[in-house]
Amino acid sequence: TRMKAGLIWFNGHMVAQEEAKVSVLTHALHYGTSVFEGIRAYETPKGPAVFRLPEHVERLFHSARVMMMELPFTPQQISDAIVQVVRENGYKSCYIRPLAWMGAGSLGVNPLPNNPAEVMVAAWEWGTYLGEEAVRKGARLVTSSWARFPANVFPGKAKIGGNYVNSALARIEAQHAGADEALLLDKEGYVAEGSGENIFFFKGGTLYAIEHGVNLMGITRDSVITIARDLGYEVREVRATRDQLYMADEVFMVGTAAEVTPVSYLDRRPIGSGTAGEHTMRLRKAYLEVVQGHNPKYDEWLTYVA
Ligand code: PMP
Repeated sequence: TRMKAGLIWFNGHMVAQEEAKVSVLTHALHYGTSVFEGIRAYETPKGPAVFRLPEHVERLFHSARVMMMELPFTPQQISDAIVQVVRENGYKSCYIRPLAWMGAGSLGVNPLPNNPAEVMVAAWEWGTYLGEEAVRKGARLVTSSWARFPANVFPGKAKIGGNYVNSALARIEAQHAGADEALLLDKEGYVAEGSGENIFFFKGGTLYAIEHGVNLMGITRDSVITIARDLGYEVREVRATRDQLYMADEVFMVGTAAEVTPVSYLDRRPIGSGTAGEHTMRLRKAYLEVVQGHNPKYDEWLTYVA
């Protein structure tokens, strides 16, 4: 079944999903020359609110800068487009995907001479990314045979379409191994990230965040660190190995799509007791309260749509 995204903001105009089409000669379709974001809007007591909108829009423009892609819209125009898409589709909560790509012009690998950038913002209703069971019982992870690319191979701090071939290969492999998600290691063998999530673990009551390294600097990771410190947890940013995760009390993944998802197994080894961890679930609850507007302390992270 095809996903339903309703009205899509397409190069400045609201159009029906069926009308938002591109040429097969689009540069990005051939070479992955696109940049994008993944954002969520949540139902709050004051209507739908987009979570950390300015940070996501800033990262989109930083990704474009890395690609030397000139976007034909300002950050304010893109922010307005995101709010408009949530509002005009009447969503209470949704996942929002802004995408900018090198369009159709010439198909040499160099995108710069005459492939104009195009932009769209689509949104759809999307529940738990890794499934209800993963959230309740914890997700099962396997370490990928595909390494996360080093910083001089792909710019992993930019959300560039082509980067996600690495994530897709890891995710396909995980699915074939019967797991919910892949854990990618960097080229030295240290824990990097999931195919679309940053990694945390608890050991002896301390919360350890995997340091940025080659990873995407996740906005959820930043939010969770702030919330955890406010709850009184000591948080340290570390480089860690996969066996450190095997020996951890709890492991969890965070991302806009995955939110806070406990990990119960890694490479068929139970993490702790092999269930969703107690501290993890406390953080998950606190995170969901923040994004759903139930914690006034973090109201500045919400952009209300109404
Ligand atoms: N790492 C990768 C590779 C991702 O694709 C994502 C999802 N954007 C994340 C981490 C988490 O980032 P965020 O919390 O900003 O969604």
